[in-house]
Amino acid sequence: MRLSFNNIIISLGKDQDNEIIKEMEKRGIKKNNIKSIIWNKRSIDSRKKFDIKLIYNLEVELKKRIDITSLKNVSLIKDVEKIARKPIFSINKEVAIIGSGPAGLFAALRLAEYGFIPIIFERGEEIDKRDITTENFIRNSLLNPNSNIQFGEGGAGTYSDGKLNTRIKSEYMDKVFETLVECGAPSNILWDYKPHVGTDILKIVVKNLREKIKLLGGKFFFNHKLENIHIKNGKIFGITITNLTGTTEFHNFNSVILAIGHSARDTYKMLHKNGVEMESKAFAIGTRIEHFRCDIDRMQYGKFADNELLGSATYNVTYNNRAEERGVFSFCMCPGGIIVNASSELNTSLVNGMSYSQRNGKFSNSAIVVGIKENDFGDHLFSGMEFQEKLERKTYELVEGYGALYQGVLDFMKDKKTTHEIESSYEMKKTSYNLNNFFPEIVVNNMKSAFEYWSKNPIFISKNVNLIAPETRTSAPVRIIRDINGMSVNVQGLYPIGEGAGYAGGIISAAVDGVKIVDLAFTKIN
Ligand code: FAD
Repeated sequence: MRLSFNNIIISLGKDQDNEIIKEMEKRGIKKNNIKSIIWNKRSIDSRKKFDIKLIYNLEVELKKRIDITSLKNVSLIKDVEKIARKPIFSINKEVAIIGSGPAGLFAALRLAEYGFIPIIFERGEEIDKRDITTENFIRNSLLNPNSNIQFGEGGAGTYSDGKLNTRIKSEYMDKVFETLVECGAPSNILWDYKPHVGTDILKIVVKNLREKIKLLGGKFFFNHKLENIHIKNGKIFGITITNLTGTTEFHNFNSVILAIGHSARDTYKMLHKNGVEMESKAFAIGTRIEHFRCDIDRMQYGKFADNELLGSATYNVTYNNRAEERGVFSFCMCPGGIIVNASSELNTSLVNGMSYSQRNGKFSNSAIVVGIKENDFGDHLFSGMEFQEKLERKTYELVEGYGALYQGVLDFMKDKKTTHEIESSYEMKKTSYNLNNFFPEIVVNNMKSAFEYWSKNPIFISKNVNLIAPETRTSAPVRIIRDINGMSVNVQGLYPIGEGAGYAGGIISAAVDGVKIVDLAFTKIN
């Protein structure tokens, strides 16, 4: 018999396991009848810094059945029968997948599990080589436009904080989380309210996932870039791929899953040229804000700042400009992480954040971004994308190479250039610049109002806090329109998935989208 107990609140200073048992007994469950306890969720309530609490949702298995009608706040867990699906056999078994980010990899795994043969074409390198190339970029400013922080095995998420929280709810979440654990992620991601893995573990997971897909019959081609698609009578019949030597190859495919991520601007343009229906969409831009980690830990956890059950602190800040219907918010917070140059195009620069599993670096950073509406910077399909690109080129020119712009947050608020050097986790060249003169007015004004609003917190906005900019690629500036089964609305056999297609906004939602579209498009209910 399995029972579910939610909202069990225990003070941080207490022995958690003992307190959980005591709480079970209070709720009418005898200790010697408990077979096992599984944490389904654990979150932190740090609103009262002097008494931080941990909140558990538990699944308790009992040795002997009991009558629960008189017990409070308990519910019986019933086994839910999973809907069985089977592959649609009329579809050609070989399916091309473009991109090996979370969306592409999880689509490949799902297809392979159903007996299809996923053939994955990835423009970047496999993870070990990508690592060397990325390091070479950071140390020597040599950018490989096909293999970098955005492109290569594992996709954009490989060099990330590996935050696995998502706002979506989906029947496929368990499948994704369990697969990540099978491939080497720690099992606490199954219950932590804010699960994360870090770039070091993600690299292991990605490699294991690749091997799993290969064992099931999948094939991987790295350094293979989708150059063109071929359509006849509204149906896709093939793709052109450029390999490492620059040779182009034509491959016959009737089903092509596009999992290209949000940075493949050249591929977006090629799709548009071929008439694939797309629309522009809202996105956000701004800057990274960087604090000393110890300050953020103290801001969130007070005297418990070093408690190992809590780890490095995260935060979430928002500001709403009602008059403009525009939000300013923190995004992709990296506790104990570093700021990196996430460029994927020659002579452009932008930043993003990543961290290692221990999250024990000297700094904590997050993006502070302002919402950009579809037509803020022009009315055509790629105006948003061109706006991002313009800022990235301007950065490269101002820095005179690959690097970032910086400014103290207080100086930004006073419209004053920072005259001193700063301490930062960002390793490439940093140039002091007044960001008031860099971003357009919409961004500057909203960001200033938000900082003003947040300055009630003297730790969050203070003299040691710096802005490192620009953060331009928070999500895709376009959406590739698809029908309810995931197929492009005007090209049969083409399935746009994940973040690049505009249907996901992070590692988990991209992975879930990959699994979901395979189920919808390639299988039917048994
Ligand atoms: P991607 O992961 O972008 O993968 C797309 C793949 O397609 C790439 O590997 C690319 O090389 C390939 N590709 C593109 N065009 C072609 C082509 N023409 N031919 C062949 N291959 C092609 N999200 C989180 O949830 N948590 C985080 O902590 C987090 N941190 C991040 C940190 C950084 C530095 C970055 C850059 C992103 C971060 N993200 C994070 C966002 C997350 O990585 C993405 O949301 C996610 O990877 C999207 O998955 P995807 O599979 O849709 O696309």
